[in-house]
Amino acid sequence: MSETQFDVVIAGGGLVGLSLAALLGQAEFKVALVESREPQLDWPQGSVDLRVYAISRASAELLRSVDAWPLIEAQACAYREMHVWDAGGGGDIHFDSAELGEPGLGHIVESRVIEKALLTVIGQLSAVTRFCPVGIASFDAADDRRAVVLEDGRVLSAALLVGADGKHSRVRDHAGIHAQVSNYGQQALVAVVACERGHADTAWQRFLPTGPLAFLPLRDGRCSIVWSATTDEANRLLALDDAAFCEALGEAFDFRLGKVLDVGERVLFPLVRQHAERTVAPRLALVGDAAHVIHPLAGQGVNLGFKDVRELADVLIAARQQRRDIGALSVLRRYERARKGDNMATMLAMDGFKHLFGSRVPPVRWLRNAGLDLVDAATPVKHLIMRAAMGL
Ligand SMILES: Cc1cc2nc3c(=O)[nH]c(=O)nc-3n(C[C@H](O)[C@H](O)[C@H](O)COP(=O)(O)OP(=O)(O)OC[C@H]3O[C@@H](n4cnc5c(N)ncnc54)[C@H](O)[C@@H]3O)c2cc1C
Repeated sequence: MSETQFDVVIAGGGLVGLSLAALLGQAEFKVALVESREPQLDWPQGSVDLRVYAISRASAELLRSVDAWPLIEAQACAYREMHVWDAGGGGDIHFDSAELGEPGLGHIVESRVIEKALLTVIGQLSAVTRFCPVGIASFDAADDRRAVVLEDGRVLSAALLVGADGKHSRVRDHAGIHAQVSNYGQQALVAVVACERGHADTAWQRFLPTGPLAFLPLRDGRCSIVWSATTDEANRLLALDDAAFCEALGEAFDFRLGKVLDVGERVLFPLVRQHAERTVAPRLALVGDAAHVIHPLAGQGVNLGFKDVRELADVLIAARQQRRDIGALSVLRRYERARKGDNMATMLAMDGFKHLFGSRVPPVRWLRNAGLDLVDAATPVKHLIMRAAMGL
């Protein structure tokens, strides 16, 4: 079978792989994008994807830069405020974008809406060729190229192979890069719910001893919930009938939006923390969940992936301008160095929050309550946190 040459082969067309293909395609790199799953392009009116993301301001900027944001914004819910409080005491913190003179903190968007917008953008880029739906059968490497052999026998080779193939990345395995995995022993229960009171364009999060519970505002007035709990507790919640679940959810949420009136399909996602010990190798780079998986409590996973994409694209564009080999390790290390600190800091912060709020030890409970109130009162610290969450 003949081999087709590209500048970059991207394995994995989730949101991270798609956005990288769009950026590199616009910069006129010849890109192959390989994805094994058929995307969802149509859905019944009034339905909501269970995968709903809090998209930071920085991520919206990236999506705007590839012309995808105008296709997304009309279907996104802008949120201006956020309330975080602790079930184990009176600690409470309130973030309001108006305090920063900003129009909003971010947007809540369905994953499939972003996916469809990026596919529309990519469909107009002659530099990007999509191979979908098809999986990768094997890999090959030489000094001057990396190649993937598709399950249908086609061979794609490039100066650079990018693994955007999620947490079970085969590209990472192919490169022999070890990923450190720790299981949180938690599952996230995800569902769409209707409440007695409107969400007030606010994201809500309550820390329970069993894990955080988030209510994210949707455009149609309902909320998407992410309820992280121990595996036993999550299975118990999944097994409840709808009425009992709504009652348990309302109570767990302090009835902040009144009673929970209705719940749709409920799905569990296992929660793990994972980080690749390296994110580059000769002619190879990892982005998004292939490089790092974090707890969803602050809704930062795909936002971190978009930051990887921005950095990697900038490094590759600069290397080409300087007539350097885009697959050279010395070039790719710039990407690794630039992203390492931010990715690690976010991962550790998520872990810190999880352990702090999961603790039943009284001094820790006192500290975290006092901490929430102190942060709420200390305006500069609060503004710093808000800016970080917005990705600014
Ligand atoms: C419950 C929950 C809530 C979350 N909420 C948020 C949030 O609010 N905000 C946020 O920023 N993040 C959130 N996240 C994290 C977010 O889901 C991930 O960080 C994000 O989906 C990672 O995107 P990705 O493109 O890197 O990987 P993926 O979405 O996993 O995409 C990888 C793609 O590669 C494809 N693929 C894999 N192997 C192959 C192969 N061999 N050949 C071809 N294709 C392949 C897969 O089909 C898939 O499409 C949440 C996660 C969970 C579990």
